[in-house]
Amino acid sequence: MSLPATTADALVIGAGIMGAACAARLSERGLRVTLLEAQASPALGSTGRSAAGVRTQFTSATNILLSQHSVAEYAALPQAEYRPIGYLLLVPQTGWKAHAAGVERQQALGAPTQVLTPHEAQAILEFDTDGIHACTFGPADGVVDPHGITYAFLEQARAGGAALHLNTPVTALERRGEDWHATTPAGTFQAPLLINASGAWSGELAALAGFTLPVWPARRMVYATGPLPRPRAVPMTFDLSSGVWLRSEGQRVILGRADPADRGWREGLNWDWLPETLEPALERFPWLADAGLDRHASWWGYYEMTPDELPIVGRMPGVPGWLNACGFSGHGVMQAAAVGRVTAQEALGEPPFINVDSLRFERFGRAEAGVRDIQV
Ligand SMILES: Cc1cc2nc3c(=O)[nH]c(=O)nc-3n(C[C@H](O)[C@H](O)[C@H](O)COP(=O)(O)OP(=O)(O)OC[C@H]3O[C@@H](n4cnc5c(N)ncnc54)[C@H](O)[C@@H]3O)c2cc1C
Repeated sequence: MSLPATTADALVIGAGIMGAACAARLSERGLRVTLLEAQASPALGSTGRSAAGVRTQFTSATNILLSQHSVAEYAALPQAEYRPIGYLLLVPQTGWKAHAAGVERQQALGAPTQVLTPHEAQAILEFDTDGIHACTFGPADGVVDPHGITYAFLEQARAGGAALHLNTPVTALERRGEDWHATTPAGTFQAPLLINASGAWSGELAALAGFTLPVWPARRMVYATGPLPRPRAVPMTFDLSSGVWLRSEGQRVILGRADPADRGWREGLNWDWLPETLEPALERFPWLADAGLDRHASWWGYYEMTPDELPIVGRMPGVPGWLNACGFSGHGVMQAAAVGRVTAQEALGEPPFINVDSLRFERFGRAEAGVRDIQV
């Protein structure tokens, strides 16, 4: 017996923070939304494994604005549990010029970013200043609860009439006439619009529809220390000379560093990468030596990478009714609220409230593609 097709105005694939944000904003605008999620619960993909940081310290105006808007929304959403613990960036001489231009742009757009000498920054966090030219601190940057935000957006979506189907992986996609037909074990779902919010799986979703989208998974480790012997408030801190990041998580510190070779569907915590993370971390933050490692509190997850480490947002050229909200390359939590709004506007044929032209698929192949932003 074949199951009946289910009709909606928009299918959103993926119930992480991005799919939830898109579903909330689309249904708020009166569209009938069906949200399809492969897993048994929302936020079990990258969203549930993120370091939960939000920052406006980017160099491009688009990234700054997407984060700024999203952080403002999270600050007003109790479930987001926004805590402005700040982001401290330690910047070497190489890269300072571009970084400083980014700070000027952030300040011009109203972000309260401060420039500090490495000596001044010691008042925020102790670190070895060797090789650090200057520091920047964003006092409004901080952390949120990605689960809380996802569930809040889903609640808003449901209030607007959206239907969420869990345990419903899309296994085939076909454009027939004016509609997308999404095959799942629970039947076929059908709508003229399809939002690709399937995170690290977004390239695979596109492949089901017969085209190539450059999004792939890259595994990232989050190592956790045990409780520190002496309490220390550690803002989200990036050492841009080594790529090490760390921040307080309760009494502990969590830390990580990207392994550029770790791409594809590799699973589990890679303990072989621990020395490559700890060595530069201990050089820069010698006080970390007092904290033991807690293997059980450590975790891993997938970044959803693109060639220039920037998201792919907006309508897919040549693929009718297909919108991308994917490829955030490790920044999806901090940009989801704004991207949900942009996606709803695009779906309705309105100009988005933030210009996302630099994030459209069309950038690939253009000379200006490949301009990366601040990334760890
Ligand atoms: C270790 C780590 C640290 C990070 N730190 C930060 C940070 O500090 N700040 C920040 O902003 N971001 C951070 N990120 C990135 C952030 O987690 C992601 O950018 C964000 O969660 C992406 O959300 P999403 O909804 O697009 O993807 P996901 O949360 O992965 O959701 C995609 C969903 O799509 C579903 N899906 C996939 N294929 C299908 C299919 N065929 N059918 C149905 N459903 C499907 C999946 O099951 C999944 O639930 C971090 C990520 C990791 C791994």
